[in-house]
Amino acid sequence: MTPNPWPACPNCGHEDVAILHEATPQANVTDATLECRVCDHVFKDTIQKAQDVTLKAIVSEEDESDVTRITVPPHEPLHVGDEVYSEDHRLLVTSLEDQEDRRVDEALPQDIKTLWCKVFDTVTVDIAINQGHKTWTGEITVKPEEDFYVGDRLMIKDREVAVHAIKTPSDIHHEGSQQARDIVRLYAKSVSGEPITYKEVHRTEIHRRRRRFREGSS
Ligand SMILES: [Zn+2]
Repeated sequence: MTPNPWPACPNCGHEDVAILHEATPQANVTDATLECRVCDHVFKDTIQKAQDVTLKAIVSEEDESDVTRITVPPHEPLHVGDEVYSEDHRLLVTSLEDQEDRRVDEALPQDIKTLWCKVFDTVTVDIAINQGHKTWTGEITVKPEEDFYVGDRLMIKDREVAVHAIKTPSDIHHEGSQQARDIVRLYAKSVSGEPITYKEVHRTEIHRRRRRFREGSS
């Protein structure tokens, strides 16, 4: 039997098909159990895995940008907001340009001319620290998936502040946790007696206290 380059669903004919199981995952051609993403039909077929696609990517980091190449699987559409990997960095897709130079939100690798990405090894979270009637702002650099909790304690030098609200693009949260990648700003209050100065917030790296306040604890 000649393997399909990529099998279509025998039930509905769509080619949006996911691999559930491969008989010989290392082989280029293998029998596989597949599931249609459109109608959920599960079926077996022989698949021939296509070569990965190499795309031109413009990668920005702070004020600089660089051209690089990124290799992606051929059948998975890329979206704005997806994560991809270059040799050196974890990247976030910020824009896609198709072969007709149009900006699109989603495209198959073969239809993409250029990917725009930003380095996503870490993200910077803004923090506003309330101190009596003054508020200082600073930044914390963390991994994108790091969780912050309402109740979290952060250290600025030897002073402790407690997070009392977390702002995301859609809301201000007064309980629970959010991932750093989704956080616009943390609101915190000083919980140690001595005042924190503007300079301390600006010039000192802010650390999270090792003791973590889990959701639901106090
Ligand atoms: Zn189907």
